[in-house]
Amino acid sequence: MSANCIFCKIIKNEIPSLKIYETSKTLAFMDIGPTAPGHALVIPKYHGAKLHNIPDEHLYEILPIAKRIALALDLAIESPEGEGYNVLQNNGRIAHQMVDHVHFHLIPKRDSTSGLVVGWPESEEGKAKIKEIHAKLEAAFKAVEESSPIKI
Ligand code: AMP
Ligand code: ZN
Repeated sequence: MSANCIFCKIIKNEIPSLKIYETSKTLAFMDIGPTAPGHALVIPKYHGAKLHNIPDEHLYEILPIAKRIALALDLAIESPEGEGYNVLQNNGRIAHQMVDHVHFHLIPKRDSTSGLVVGWPESEEGKAKIKEIHAKLEAAFKAVEESSPIKI
């Protein structure tokens, strides 16, 4: 827990929130500035700014709970144009993270006027270097996995 973190304060009930579901490790609640009706957040109760700061055991519940929130959103939010949704998780200011406590956005996409707008240009550099970067990434992943083995 971090004393100045707004999401830690929500976890401790020091500030109000609209909670959807919680366990000892995870909390789901409504985003206060929704970009679409039903915009929700799923967070680990463990305080850490970026995904890689969170120990594995505090991440295992996140996707199963996010999946169920998505199913609940499909039941709860009317969807004349379809039942899509985006899962978004920003890390770092440059990547549009505003709250430095890991959070997964669940954003219903019901029509073209609300929800997440996604569109990215293809990187010429990324394309040109794809094989070179793949080789480096494969080796780097091996090093990461050796120092921090995945235990499931
Ligand atoms: P991000 O840009 O990924 O860090 O997103 C931060 C999200 O937290 C935004 O969508 C905000 O609307 C949301 N947020 C900030 N403060 C609160 C709060 N007190 N309760 C619920 N959601 C919040
Ligand atoms: Zn926090």
